[in-house]
Amino acid sequence: MRIGGSRIELVLGDITQQDTDAIVNAANLSLLGGGGVDGAIHRAGGPQILAECRRIGGCAAGDARITTGGLLKARHVIHAVGPIYRDGRSGEPELLASAYQRSLELASRFKLRSVAFPAISTGAYGYPAREAAEIALRTIAAYLREHPEIELVRVVLFSPRAYEIHADALRELQEAA
Ligand code: ADP
Repeated sequence: MRIGGSRIELVLGDITQQDTDAIVNAANLSLLGGGGVDGAIHRAGGPQILAECRRIGGCAAGDARITTGGLLKARHVIHAVGPIYRDGRSGEPELLASAYQRSLELASRFKLRSVAFPAISTGAYGYPAREAAEIALRTIAAYLREHPEIELVRVVLFSPRAYEIHADALRELQEAA
């Protein structure tokens, strides 16, 4: 999807392998690592990332922090904390949108031109994939309309099913535009 001179791209793949200026981690409140995306990023990026996370000391749900990319191709990791899904009426949509928004704000502040996101909160945190995809893509699209300095946002999906769900949601977003 093109938005002015910027674009949103969907790919099937592994977030740790992306060559964007930053990759986003689906982190938890402690920023001290975990399973899923978080574990994969710390394994691939080496101990420097965790050392910086320790110094930062944690992050609220709906917010984000930035560290080095360590050994990764990406020079930075943006650690975004999504909500744990309960019933969808406990502030989860707002917190999920905010996790994307705050990550993109950090990217702008650090003058990064390309960012790759995983599908935050849709693994261990249990967010229904379709709803999460709509929130993610809507929030990214709205941000890019106001911030042409970010040229590329890539959403990296780990399964063909997650990819299809995002492709459907992106198509609907484009039709509505
Ligand atoms: P959360 O705790 O925010 O739910 P998870 O890491 O458990 O985060 O999962 C988030 C999403 O990322 C899930 O859809 C999961 O399938 C996917 N995922 C897991 N590993 C990777 C990876 N290496 N690259 C991209 N996506 C991944």
